[in-house]
Amino acid sequence: MRIDIITIFPEMFQGPFSESIIKRAQQKGLAHIHLHQLRDYTTDKHRKTDDYAFSGGAGMVMMIEPIARCVDKLTAERKYDEIIYMSPDGDLLDQKVANQYSLKGNLMILCGHYKGIDERVRERLITKEISIGSYVLSGGELAAAVFVDSVVRLIPGVLGDETSALSDSFQNNLVSPPVYTRPRAFRGWKVPDILLSGNEKLIEEWKYEQSLKRTAERKPGLLRNEDD
Ligand code: SAH
Repeated sequence: MRIDIITIFPEMFQGPFSESIIKRAQQKGLAHIHLHQLRDYTTDKHRKTDDYAFSGGAGMVMMIEPIARCVDKLTAERKYDEIIYMSPDGDLLDQKVANQYSLKGNLMILCGHYKGIDERVRERLITKEISIGSYVLSGGELAAAVFVDSVVRLIPGVLGDETSALSDSFQNNLVSPPVYTRPRAFRGWKVPDILLSGNEKLIEEWKYEQSLKRTAERKPGLLRNEDD
């Protein structure tokens, strides 16, 4: 998968993309992430990407011209499955959405800032809008990093043990069962006996029961196939 991210703060991605699973996915050649500095697409000598809103009021708006120039350049080079704008009022990201995007070939992601972007970008250049939650961030970079992480880890072959993604929360409309590791007892707090029994069948049954119980308690909407 190839992911092109358009941003005025490319450095913000350096931490999240250079560690752990995303780093490995790139090393294995399963994810190619390219960052594009939007300022490189301005014609203005101050490399300005924002301007005052026509409506007046506080806050700057990102201009359509540099965005269009960058989008045009990229779309001339290859076809994109989706051109995504990270937006608080977009489609809410969940595991189902992440699964769908993990099967795509080329994605472009635009990160907004300030008061947002000129509406004509959303009407004319963007094909999808994604929100990571009903709250407002200062910019689309953190949202894009969350989205990319949730998608890249699901690309087949990224996780060493493929079953580890399949057994994550939400994959089967269930949340994960509790997990434990050594020591068997800490301050007298013990690991459930069943997990030490060595009986695979009983352990699987226990895990499934725990998943069901937790889902009913914490995310009951999943059992009714609703969004939580
Ligand atoms: N005035 C806008 C918010 C702008 S926040 C409004 O009220 O809707 C600045 C940028 O941060 C946005 O352009 C968007 O790219 C990003 N952003 C903020 N919150 C987000 C969220 N919950 N999910 C995805 N992107 C978000």
